[in-house]
Amino acid sequence: MHLDFSPEDLAFQQEVRAFIAENYPAELRGKQDEGDELSKEDFLSWHKVLAKKGWVAPAWPVEYGGTGWTATQRYIWSEETARADCIRLMPFGLSMVGPVIYTFGTPEQKAKYLPRILSGEDWWCQGYSEPGSGSDLASLRTKAVRDGDHYVVNGQKTWTTMAQHADWGFFLVRTDPDAKQQEGISFLLIDMKSPGITVRPIITLGGEHEVNEVWLEDVRVPVENRVYEENKGWTCAKFLLAHERTGIAGVAASKRGIEKVKTIARAEMDGDKPLIANAFFKRKIAELEMDLTALEFTELRSLAGESAGKGPGPESSLLKIKGSEIQQRLTELTLEAVGHYGAPYFRGFGEGDNEHPIGPDYAHRAAPTYFNTRKTTIYGGSNEIQRNIIAKMVLGL
Ligand SMILES: Cc1cc2nc3c(=O)[nH]c(=O)nc-3n(C[C@H](O)[C@H](O)[C@H](O)COP(=O)(O)OP(=O)(O)OC[C@H]3O[C@@H](n4cnc5c(N)ncnc54)[C@H](O)[C@@H]3O)c2cc1C
Repeated sequence: MHLDFSPEDLAFQQEVRAFIAENYPAELRGKQDEGDELSKEDFLSWHKVLAKKGWVAPAWPVEYGGTGWTATQRYIWSEETARADCIRLMPFGLSMVGPVIYTFGTPEQKAKYLPRILSGEDWWCQGYSEPGSGSDLASLRTKAVRDGDHYVVNGQKTWTTMAQHADWGFFLVRTDPDAKQQEGISFLLIDMKSPGITVRPIITLGGEHEVNEVWLEDVRVPVENRVYEENKGWTCAKFLLAHERTGIAGVAASKRGIEKVKTIARAEMDGDKPLIANAFFKRKIAELEMDLTALEFTELRSLAGESAGKGPGPESSLLKIKGSEIQQRLTELTLEAVGHYGAPYFRGFGEGDNEHPIGPDYAHRAAPTYFNTRKTTIYGGSNEIQRNIIAKMVLGL
C-alpha cells in the first residue's frame, strides 16, 4: 500500500478542491455557519450538484453510475469534502439500498431505482429495527403474507431515521414464521405513500426530529418489489450492514472536528492563558489525534483491500467502534472547551428572531451536538454487538 499521492492524485485533489470552491451551495454554507438545522431541500441541493457532475456515488460500479475512482481518489474525495465542511449526503439510498439493488436486484429493479437514487428524486429510509428487535434483529416480527402478486405487510418499525421525508423505504419482513429466524426474512422495497403507513416522530435529547416510528397496517406491496429470493433477505441485510459500518468511521469529518476543537481552545481562556496551553487539555487532544491517525490507517488498509476486490468484511466493525468513540470524544472536548457557553439552549435562528445567542458562535451547537452524538455508539449495530462480531469473526474466539 503506497501512502504518497502520485502526481495524478495530486492533480485530482486540486480538481476536487476547485470544484467544491465553485459549486458548494452558498446558502448551505450560511446555514451551517449560523448553526441552523438543515432541511431535506438543503441536503438535496448538494446532492443534485454532485449528481449533475456524476460524483454523487463514488463507490458504485461505473456501469451503474459510479465514478470509477481508485480507492485513493475516493479517500481524497472524502478528505476534501470534510476539509471544506460539506454536509454528508444521506446514506440510505447511496450507501445502503443502492449497493443492495445493484448487487442482488433484477435488471428491472436496477433500471427503476438506481437512476432515481443518483438523481436524488427518491429519498430512502431504513426499516430494520423494531421494538425488541434491535441488536437481536433476526427476531423481527413485522410480517408479510403473500396474497396473489402482493405481500400484505403488518407490524411496527422504530428509530427510522428521516422517514418523515422518505419516498421509499427498504424493510426487513418475516415471510416464513416457521423457518429458523434468519431464514424466514425477506427484503422489500416499500413506497412510503402506500395506504396503511403511518410515520410518528420521536424527538431526541437535542430537541431534533430525526427518528420516527413507522407503523404498517395491511400495506400492500407488489411481489416485484422484493429484492433477491423470498426468505433470503438476511443475505441482503448483512451485506448492507457491512457497507453501513464502513462509512460510519467518519475519519475525514473527525479530522476537521479536531481542527475546530483546536481553534476553540486557542480562543478560549484558561486563567490568563489560552486553553490550548493547558497541559491536560493538550494531552486529550493529542490522544484523540493519535487514535484518529491509527483509525485512518485502518481505513486506508480496508480501502486498499476493497480496491483489490475484497468487499468490506467483519473488520468494518472495528472502524465503526473506533470511529464512533472518536466522534463522541470530540463532542465532549468541544463542550469542555466552550464551558458555560454550552449551556444556553440554541437551535438556530427561527423566523423573526432578532436576538443574538449568548456566547461565541462556535458554542451554539456544542450541547445539542454532544447529545445527538450519543447515538453513534448505538446505531448501525451497537458497539457491544460490534465487539461480539470482532471476537467471533476476526479473532475467532
Ligand atoms: C439515532 C438513531 C438512529 C437510528 N436509525 C435507524 C434507522 O434508520 N433504521 C433502523 O432500522 N434502525 C435505526 N436505529 C436503530 C439501531 O440500529 C438500534 O438502536 C441498535 O441496533 C440497537 O438496538 P436497540 O436500540 O433495540 O437496543 P438493544 O438491542 O435493546 O440493546 C440495549 C443494550 O444492550 C446491549 N446488548 C444487546 N444485546 C447484546 C449482546 N448480545 N451482547 C452485549 N450487549 C448487548 C446493547 O449494546 C445496548 O447497549 C437507529 C438508532 C438510533 C439511536
